[in-house]
Amino acid sequence: MVYAENVDNNEKVVERSRSDSKKKKIVVLGTGWAGTSFLKDMDISSYDVEVVSPRNYFAFTPLLPSVTCGTVEARSVVEPVRNIIKKRNGEIQFWEAECLKIDPANHKVFCRSLVENLVGENDFSLEYDHLVVAVGAQVNTFNTPGVVEYCHFLKEVEDAQKIRRTVIDCFEKAVLPGLSDEERKTNLHFVIVGGGPTGVEFAAELHDFVHEDLVKIYPSVKDLVKITVIQSGDHILNTFDERISCFAETKFQRDGIEVLTGCRVVSVSEHSVNMKVKSTGEYVIVPHGMVVWSTGVGTRPFVRNFMEEIGQGKRWILATDEWLRVKGCSDVYAIGDCTTVDQRKIMEDISTIFEAADTDRSGTLTIEEFQDVLEDIIIRYPQVELYLKSNHLFELTELFKDSEGNEREEVDIEGFKLALSHVDSQMKSLPATAQVAAQQGSYLAGCFNRWEKCNANPEGPRLFGSAGRHAFRPFTYRHLGQFAPLGGSKAAAELPGDWVSMGRSTQWLWYSVYAR
Ligand code: FAD
Ligand code: MG
Ligand code: MG
Ligand code: MG
Ligand code: MG
Repeated sequence: MVYAENVDNNEKVVERSRSDSKKKKIVVLGTGWAGTSFLKDMDISSYDVEVVSPRNYFAFTPLLPSVTCGTVEARSVVEPVRNIIKKRNGEIQFWEAECLKIDPANHKVFCRSLVENLVGENDFSLEYDHLVVAVGAQVNTFNTPGVVEYCHFLKEVEDAQKIRRTVIDCFEKAVLPGLSDEERKTNLHFVIVGGGPTGVEFAAELHDFVHEDLVKIYPSVKDLVKITVIQSGDHILNTFDERISCFAETKFQRDGIEVLTGCRVVSVSEHSVNMKVKSTGEYVIVPHGMVVWSTGVGTRPFVRNFMEEIGQGKRWILATDEWLRVKGCSDVYAIGDCTTVDQRKIMEDISTIFEAADTDRSGTLTIEEFQDVLEDIIIRYPQVELYLKSNHLFELTELFKDSEGNEREEVDIEGFKLALSHVDSQMKSLPATAQVAAQQGSYLAGCFNRWEKCNANPEGPRLFGSAGRHAFRPFTYRHLGQFAPLGGSKAAAELPGDWVSMGRSTQWLWYSVYAR
């Protein structure tokens, strides 16, 4: 808010209008997985593309945990944005700055360069015809006292480098003369808060780093090192298949990594973590040498302000429709971790679908009539496919059963509602992964590239007459990895072949994202 007011009142703001050329102008915020994938696939001959990001490089996040332990060099996980742009013949403009405010009514964004002692003005504004918001998410501290001051995060390349230096500092401190064993142990207690994939992967990397490298350099303290993962839920990796979280827990136990489940951290201080054991309600003080906070992500403040402005103030995360258009304003799109796709429920449209499918207007649907529109339905409501798969329903006749379980030739509207009544329970929000972000970026670029053609000749499902006709097919996530989110509580269909290879390379935890 403070930022926004400053920007509004600042009359010196430099303006770049959108009338510089006849081409439509797309402004992209962010150069992470989503933004970069958008830029790579964008046909820049038809648009003016301008990019704003406070980091002038793309970071390959799956390798960040390895940077913390020096397995991988920091410079090999980044790619300069200007290199990426150069490959596109330099027609993309890049501004190293942070967006502070989106003004959807006037199609403008306000930005500030973070360069210190800049000769000239730090603030500027850009007009857009289309805005692509791809700013990712920020660390969520849940307002826990002491987290910002005393914890490390693992989100950026600098974070990973800082963690690496701190781990080594902890060993240096622990071998100083005159310390008690207790003090040495505290210095060598590494605590990870959060048992999601990032936290677990970091714990595994750290374990290998300590036991393969550091104990040789600091042999006198090798028995005093301890790694602890604190998780508020009952299991680590609880969004994954049970077999995976079970495997990870067993492996950690064997490695001597302590996993404390059902514990919530209530505060952190310089040398200790205060946590509440959920089952007993008691508070426990855990001394530490270093804490890495890795408990999920939240919405950036300027995105939150934007959400309030467009009537999304009650939501946790910015919502788009299935075409990745931000709800509540026009010409703004959002992709990646900063956003969620609000999927449409099939039950909201059930009567329209029924009428459209009942081509002979008999008031009943035959299996054939249903079959004819099924493909359109699946495009528009991806949950239908998930539902059929997870219930092993390959024969549609099985859907056409009455309440006694007898199969029927045709159904009326009530029967149709009954048949599809459980489908919406399969809706599941997409995971915050590089794979989703990259596919969304690439999908959106495709839409822009085919804009004219598709507007003239809509390709989306035609099920609902003109109202439901869209120029593009909605975004559908194609899961390339092995852990198909089947909806409901079932998370995985199959395990990858090398899933037991946890250790130095634990990237199996994440869906493979390197396919692109
Ligand atoms: P990001 O990649 O975070 O990019 C956001 C971009 O926006 C950045 O360029 C940032 O500088 C910029 N930005 C921020 N604020 C502003 C602003 N105000 N104005 C303009 N630009 C702004 N996913 C996987 O699928 N597999 C993995 O193995 C995996 N490993 C991971 C390991 C770690 C340590 C972490 C932190 C994440 C990992 N992820 C992994 C998750 C994956 O990185 C994210 O899902 C992905 O980065 C999301 O892409 P994004 O473009 O939405 O956001
Ligand atoms: Mg991005
Ligand atoms: Mg990134
Ligand atoms: Mg998302
Ligand atoms: Mg009919």
